[in-house]
Amino acid sequence: MLTASIVASLSLAVPLGISKPAWPKEIEPARSEPKPSKCDRSQFRVVLDVGHTIDAPGAISARNVPEYDFNLRLAKYLERSLIEDGFAKTVLLVTGGRARPSLFKRVARVNGLSANLLVSIHHDSVPDSLMESWEFEGKESHFSDRFRGHSIFVSYDNPHLDRSLLFGRLLGKELKDRGLQYARQYTQPIMGRYQRELVDPGAGVYRYDKLIVLKGTQMPAVLFEAGSIINREEELEMNSAERLDLINASLRAAVKMFCNLSSPTLRARTGNSATR
Ligand SMILES: [Zn+2]
Repeated sequence: MLTASIVASLSLAVPLGISKPAWPKEIEPARSEPKPSKCDRSQFRVVLDVGHTIDAPGAISARNVPEYDFNLRLAKYLERSLIEDGFAKTVLLVTGGRARPSLFKRVARVNGLSANLLVSIHHDSVPDSLMESWEFEGKESHFSDRFRGHSIFVSYDNPHLDRSLLFGRLLGKELKDRGLQYARQYTQPIMGRYQRELVDPGAGVYRYDKLIVLKGTQMPAVLFEAGSIINREEELEMNSAERLDLINASLRAAVKMFCNLSSPTLRARTGNSATR
């Protein structure tokens, strides 16, 4: 779950009017016509931010494993994979300390890295009101099998909103193409203060303006909830090589396309309205 600690402030009244996303027109041709790489992968820096810290590990899974462990494992896997693909400048960002100070620490570090893209890796849970109890390995534990799926968040306060949306949409489509369904519950009133506007119903991209790691960073940025670890079945899937491979393949493909679409020549030709 996107806990209160990772937002700048919380508002109970979240406007849900669907605003028109500014999708660059070049996405579809790029997806349907594979072309030789236009970007210099060796110079394109992706930062994989491991959500939460050892001291403040985020959500606890249905089987009592801290979210941080899931985030770190997946981010390390993605890092290796991107480096294999030629993205040699990929950075795995691990932050320590208490929850809230760690957010500002990670933003400061990312902004000093000359990064082209930030992906903050998380795993999802549900609000406390939806939790149910069960016993796991002799210990009272909590779960909710009601919802499942990944989700992608962008902040409209990020200075590169258009590019953030572009990457979020690319990633969402790649996940969808591999048979993965995004979490739909964020539009529902039952989510209370976590209710969000769905800005791309096809790709599963939600708007979450106040996330510090998205709004404070000076490059395109998305927060990726890779799957639910409070759902007992999906927690097991998130531990499986098959699921990790699907996520990895999706992210690799999305980063490659994003890099191509971010190349200086293409941006000059298509025009770049990255800021707002
Ligand atoms: Zn998290």
